[in-house]
Amino acid sequence: MLLTTILNHVQKFKSFVFKKAQWANAEKSEIDVLVEARANSRPICSQCGRVGPRHGRQTVRRFSYLPVWGIPVTLVYAPRRVNCSWCGIRVESLPWTLPENPKSPLTETYAWYLARWAQRLSWLETAQTFRTTWDTVRQAVSMAVRWGLAHRDR
Ligand SMILES: [Zn+2]
Repeated sequence: MLLTTILNHVQKFKSFVFKKAQWANAEKSEIDVLVEARANSRPICSQCGRVGPRHGRQTVRRFSYLPVWGIPVTLVYAPRRVNCSWCGIRVESLPWTLPENPKSPLTETYAWYLARWAQRLSWLETAQTFRTTWDTVRQAVSMAVRWGLAHRDR
């Protein structure tokens, strides 16, 4: 079974599809997963949430995703620009980014994973275990804490 088949099964992003998984480097120590927008999808404005016509693309961005068998996985995608009738030209909204920090190279799925481990291990141990940085763990915990504060009454 292909890695992209598993990803498309467990992580559904409306309007986006995991197209191809490949080694990111010659050492075969990291995996890149190429993401594509579905052909019939129109980009969503990241500022107001409205759909608009596409207006070119940004350069390719890389987003850390859950490791597979201990191998770091990165989502690779060139975000589209939206010609939004309300906001002008904006970058599209990406469903895998952190809700309050969309410029972070961390996916929300991976942030939750790291934040849960950071409850059991120190932040440094979490970073070392998952071959990431202390600051990435800090961002993940910060997202989880903000979510917890916003949902305190539950
Ligand atoms: Zn807009």
